[in-house]
Amino acid sequence: MTVAVYPGSFDPVHYGHIDIAKRAAALFDHLIVAVFDRPQKNVLFTVEERLGMWREALKDVPNAEARAYGILTVDFVRQMNASVIVRGLRVISDFEVEIQMAFITRKLAPDIDMVCLMTSLEYAFISSSIVKEVARAGGPVNEFVPPQVERALRTRLSPEQ
Ligand code: ADP
Repeated sequence: MTVAVYPGSFDPVHYGHIDIAKRAAALFDHLIVAVFDRPQKNVLFTVEERLGMWREALKDVPNAEARAYGILTVDFVRQMNASVIVRGLRVISDFEVEIQMAFITRKLAPDIDMVCLMTSLEYAFISSSIVKEVARAGGPVNEFVPPQVERALRTRLSPEQ
C-alpha cells in the first residue's frame, strides 16, 4: 500500500490545492494532506481552520484525510509510514522551489520520493496569496475557493474583525 503526503500551509485552501489532492488520491492508495501549523509566513487562518477547510473539501474522497503537523516534513512522512511527498507545480518559479525541496528531501530521506503534479489549466493562476489579495479588496473569490472558504475569508476580513 502506497501512502502519499501532500504538505503545505494552505492559507487558505483553494481549488488548485483541491484539484492536486483529488488527483493524488486517485494515484495512491492513501493520501494524507498535511497542514503545516506554523509556517514562517504570516497566516490568516489557524491550523484548525485550515484543517476544517480540508475536511470539508475531502469529505467525498474516502482514501484521503487531513492532519496537522509541526515537525520536519520528512519526519512527519516517516511517522505516517508514507513514502511519497506530493507537490503541485504551476509555473517555472514553483519548479525552482520544488527541485530544491526534492534535493534536500533526497539528502535527508533517500527512502522518500517526491512526485509533482502539474496544475490543471483552469487553476494555474490561483495562489493563496492572490485569493487573499482579491478578498481583501472586496472582490469575488467564488471561482477560486469553495463556498465555506469564501465565507471564512469574508468573516476574517470584515472590518469588524
Ligand atoms: P507552501 O506549501 O509553499 O506554503 P501552498 O500551501 O500554497 O504553498 O501550496 C502547497 C502546494 O500546492 C505546493 O506544492 C504548491 O505548489 C501547490 N499549489 C498551490 N497552488 C496551486 C495551483 N493553483 N495548482 C497546483 N498546485 C498548486
